Amino acid sequence: MTLPELIFVGTTDIAGKLRGKAIPASALEQRRKDGVGWVPTNALITCFDTIGDGPYGSFGDLVIVPDMEAQYDLSGREGHGGFRLVLGDVRDLNGGNWTCCTRSILRSALDRLHRLSGMQLQVSFEHEFQLAGLSRPAGDAFAFEGFRACAGFAEELLFAMNQLGLEPDQFIREYGPDQFEVTMCPTNALRASDRAAAIRALVRELARRHGYNATFSPVVAPDSVGNGVHIHMSLIQDDGTPATYDAASPNGLSEPAGRMAAGIAKYLPEYLALLAPSVISYARLTPHSWSAAFNNIGYRDREAAIRICPVNFADDDVASKFNIEVRAVDAAASPYLALAAIAHAMAQGVEENLPLPEVTEEDLSLCSQSELEARNISRLPQTLVSALERFEQSSTVRGWFGDEFADVYRAHKESEIEFVAEHDDAETYRLYRETY
Ligand code: GLU
Ligand code: MG
Repeated sequence: MTLPELIFVGTTDIAGKLRGKAIPASALEQRRKDGVGWVPTNALITCFDTIGDGPYGSFGDLVIVPDMEAQYDLSGREGHGGFRLVLGDVRDLNGGNWTCCTRSILRSALDRLHRLSGMQLQVSFEHEFQLAGLSRPAGDAFAFEGFRACAGFAEELLFAMNQLGLEPDQFIREYGPDQFEVTMCPTNALRASDRAAAIRALVRELARRHGYNATFSPVVAPDSVGNGVHIHMSLIQDDGTPATYDAASPNGLSEPAGRMAAGIAKYLPEYLALLAPSVISYARLTPHSWSAAFNNIGYRDREAAIRICPVNFADDDVASKFNIEVRAVDAAASPYLALAAIAHAMAQGVEENLPLPEVTEEDLSLCSQSELEARNISRLPQTLVSALERFEQSSTVRGWFGDEFADVYRAHKESEIEFVAEHDDAETYRLYRETY
C-alpha cells in the first residue's frame, strides 16, 4: 500500500506560526488556481491558540494561494517523506491581497523601498535555537565536542537544507546551554523570508527525529541566554550593482544605506512590537545580552540594534559583502512582518532624507538618561505592553500597515498578554518554550 502524499500549504502568520492546511500532493496543481480555504479570524489566533477580539467573527472567506517558488519538499529523500511544504499568499476571493497577509505586506514594503530608492534588498536570516533533551555538561560553547554531540542532527539538517535550496552558510554550537545557530546565504528579501519560515519548521522536524525538542523561544528561562534572529541586509541596484558600501565613508556606509539605517533606528521603538512580539521577548532585549537595548547604529558592536558588520577588507569583493544587521528580532515574529517593518523604516529614512545619526562604539548602558537624550538615542521599550503603546501611538508606523492590520495586530497581542497574565513566570517561559 502506498500512503497518500500530503503537502502542507501555509503561511507564517501574526503569531509567527506556520499555519495552513494539508492537501493531497496530486491536487496541488488545481490548488494553485483555487487556493486553500482560509478564514479572516485565523489572523487573531495567538501562539497559545487563544483568539483576540477582532472585527471578523465567523464571517468572511479567504484563500491561501501556494507559490510554487516557495515549495520545500523533501519527499524525494528516503526517510524524509513527511516534509512537504508550500508557502503562499492569503488572498480574498477576487484574488486581491488580503490586508493581514504577512507575505503581501512584505511585498508592498519592498515595493515602496524600491520606488523611493531604486534599490532592492539582499537578505540573510540568522537563527539561534536550543535543543532540549541534549543535556550536555557545561563547557560546550563553540566547542568541537559540543558540535559532535549533535553532529547527526547537524549533518542531516545541512543535507536537507541543500536539498531544499536553503543555501546553508554555517552551523554553530552557540554560546548558551544547548544553543545552536544556523545561517543561510543572502538572497532576495522575499525568498530569504520564505527560507526563514522553512528553516524553523525544518529544524523542529529534524530535531524531533533525533529525539530533541528544538525551541526558538526568545528566552527559555529567566536570566538565560537569548535566542535571537539577526537579519543581515545589503542593497543592490536593479542591475545587481552593490550599493551599501562607500570606501570614502568613515564607517563604510554609502549615503543611501546611511539614510535607510537612520530610518531603521529612528522608528525602531515604534515598530519593535513587530520584531520582538512576545511577552518574554523583552527579557532578551537588555544591556549586556548581545542583543539590542537601544535604538543605536553601532560599528561592529554586537549589542547595537543595528550593527555595521565587519567584512574582510583583504577580500576584493568588499562592496557586495558589506552589510548591516538588525539584531532586535526574535523568532516569535513572522519573518515577513519583521522584515516588512524594517523595509518600511528604510523607505521612511529615504523619504524623510534622514542623515545618518551618530554611529556608536561604546557601552551605552553606562550613559545617563540625559546624555542619551542629548545624543538622540533611546532605550527600547522594555515590555510588550509599552512596545504596543508606541506602535499604537505612531501614526507613521500605523500608516505603513493601515488601520485594519494595526487593530488586528493589537487585538491579537492583547489576547496573548491576557493569557500570559494568568500564569506565573516559570509557566510563562515553559509555555513560550513549547510554542516556539
Ligand atoms: N544570543 C544573542 C541574541 O540573543 C546573540 C549572540 C550573537 O550571536 O552575537 O541575539
Ligand atoms: Mg549568534
